[in-house]
Amino acid sequence: MSEIAENIQRIQQAIREAAERVNRNPAGVTLIGVTKTLSAEVVNEALAAGLTHVGENRVQEAKAKFPLLAKPVTRHLIGHLQRNKVKDAVLLFDMIHSVDSLELAREINKRAADAGRVMDILLQVNVSGEETKFGMEEDKLPGTLQEIAGLSNIRARGLMTIAPLTDNPERVRPYFARLRELLETMKNRGFVGNGFDQLSMGMTGDFRVAVEEGATLVRIGTGIFGPRVYHHG
Ligand SMILES: *Cc1c(COP(=O)(O)O)cnc(C)c1O
Repeated sequence: MSEIAENIQRIQQAIREAAERVNRNPAGVTLIGVTKTLSAEVVNEALAAGLTHVGENRVQEAKAKFPLLAKPVTRHLIGHLQRNKVKDAVLLFDMIHSVDSLELAREINKRAADAGRVMDILLQVNVSGEETKFGMEEDKLPGTLQEIAGLSNIRARGLMTIAPLTDNPERVRPYFARLRELLETMKNRGFVGNGFDQLSMGMTGDFRVAVEEGATLVRIGTGIFGPRVYHHG
């Protein structure tokens, strides 16, 4: 078996164990392989080994890579999305995790309407305050979700967060717990429609804790593919 195939099996096993520790059904957790910087050839190895969801950070990179993939796969945009890339993004991706403003949501809605589709999105929230600069502030969430409910070509499916990097995943557990609490609050207060049930949280260093705290989508790069090598110039 290839190293990538072994890694995928090991991570699926760790997801099952984490889910079972908190009496969750492991089938409620989807593994997204984060394929940024990797060649289509390497991604195809992972698809052959059973990976069915991929996550990319950059629209341009995905645009070049996706046509080279050998199997149908569910495609997630997990990196920051610039307004001028939205038109491509709605054609390339099945879900956009990184919606961090109402303006961006409106642009996605408009471009999705042009493309004749309804785009699944997650709201990216900064639950760690000062520690990361990514995502919207918690207090903007209710208003943003209420506005989004009135847009007919996007569907809010849940929340996403990126925890601060740490050697000790226990330290970021409260942030994952907070994201789940926010999801429940938004549902209970009626700010969202049906199907608002996804929590995208957890990366290679902290996915076990994220699953224990309710993650439904985990985003794993290094744990499957090894350390990323960035080519400059
Ligand atoms: C790169 C990246 C990941 C994967 O990180 P690893 O630590 O390699 O698992 C997950 N989420 C986002 C948003 C990323 O940019």
